[in-house]
Amino acid sequence: MPEEPCQCPDCLRFYREHDRFIREFPTLRQQQELNWAALQSFRTLCGRVLEDLQKQLNSNASNKSEENLIAGTIDNKEKSIAQVISDLENINAHLYSIEALMERIFDVKVPDEVENKFREIAGELAPDPLNIDRLRLNRLLHQTPDLPDK
Ligand SMILES: [Zn+2]
Repeated sequence: MPEEPCQCPDCLRFYREHDRFIREFPTLRQQQELNWAALQSFRTLCGRVLEDLQKQLNSNASNKSEENLIAGTIDNKEKSIAQVISDLENINAHLYSIEALMERIFDVKVPDEVENKFREIAGELAPDPLNIDRLRLNRLLHQTPDLPDK
């Protein structure tokens, strides 16, 4: 018997988002643009937060009295900022590598017939949830007690 997909709230949200991205960006070109924009916005935001945290850490360090520096006192808050900075630097390094890989994906262009194929299959994979047939089917499914009514 095939295993049922997980129905926890996180997974349900993921399925919804997954299908929405297929439905709203049903061509190769649109998927390329969507993913590029998502990657770039992720990098921009992470980079700016990182800059800000580094500034904060530096100004904390320069405000430290000399005795504290000599004693090597670093408070916990500062330690955790330093940890976050190193985590975000790691993320940024990975995003940078992903960007290099993605550039190759984005060189590809396909003819219109293939874009239409993308559209057609997108419609099968992620039909419009507001489509009347789909609504009817959902109503039937939601009569099953173990499925959340959302
Ligand atoms: Zn789950």
